[in-house]
Amino acid sequence: MSRLFSWQVPQLEQLRNHLFKQDLAHAYLIDDPAGEGSQGFVQALASTILCEQTELGGCSGCPSCQLQNAGSHSDLLWVTPEDSKQIKIEQIRSVIEWSHQTPQQGRAKVLVLDPADRMNVYATNSLLKLLEEPAPNTYLFLISTSPARLLPTIRSRCQRLNLSTPTDEEGLRWLIETSPDADPELLEDVYAITGRRPISAQALFDSEQMAPRFAMISALNEWIKGYSGPIETARRLAAKETPSLPYDLLYRATAIAQRQQFLPQSMNRGVFQELIDELALNWSTKALSRLADECGRARSLSGASNNLNAELSLEHFLMTQSKAV
Ligand SMILES: [Zn+2]
Repeated sequence: MSRLFSWQVPQLEQLRNHLFKQDLAHAYLIDDPAGEGSQGFVQALASTILCEQTELGGCSGCPSCQLQNAGSHSDLLWVTPEDSKQIKIEQIRSVIEWSHQTPQQGRAKVLVLDPADRMNVYATNSLLKLLEEPAPNTYLFLISTSPARLLPTIRSRCQRLNLSTPTDEEGLRWLIETSPDADPELLEDVYAITGRRPISAQALFDSEQMAPRFAMISALNEWIKGYSGPIETARRLAAKETPSLPYDLLYRATAIAQRQQFLPQSMNRGVFQELIDELALNWSTKALSRLADECGRARSLSGASNNLNAELSLEHFLMTQSKAV
């Protein structure tokens, strides 16, 4: 199962204090915009609630923790979309039936909807009943990377919990500590590529998908400096599986360059550094703002295009960008 990260511990302790004081909310909406670490956090929270010692993250030894470790705790229900698509009304109906049963281990019951924004409209309406008439000692956790997609009636009945994120330094330190055999400079580059999100960086590092990203950044570097024209650059950037990736990388570099124009700082941006410096020093503020908008637009359109169109769209995109706006 997922794990708890060091930067999440204070938030978990705070929630355990609410549990001790018996004022833990009945339903929480876990807001995890980066999609990093919510499962591990909620798992640790569920273990804390169900553990007979109320130990942070569970004691592993009590009967309740043992049942959880075996994945067979009847008081913990983790609902995910059926066929990886939607959470359906039948699932919520079973949830409501389950919520009426007395806890098997006698403490409490924990329900997790993951991700909650994948409930279809019927399931949502059915869940509202459960939120309006909460069963005693039952805690609901709705995980979502985009809470805005949930109906306001659902959002208003849950307490919002913004998941703790590490500081920039903390995230990088964790990444380096968890990959002790890796070159720290390389890890810092991967950290930059993933928008300084450590868990995504670790996943990317382990997936061996870095080389294509490094190649793209290097193609963008040469284009931005005028060493490579739009046609050649588009050919190098066109990605079969992820047509949105070049726009995403350029968008990320542009966003940092925009901040750098106003707040010069010395943070090492790894492989992005050259690209960011070029944008920050030689592109006007207006041009950067336009480039960011265009990247965002192209990124959302790119999902629909086929491979040939992807390369042509990139060509057109690169031809129409100008630092002199
Ligand atoms: Zn325990």
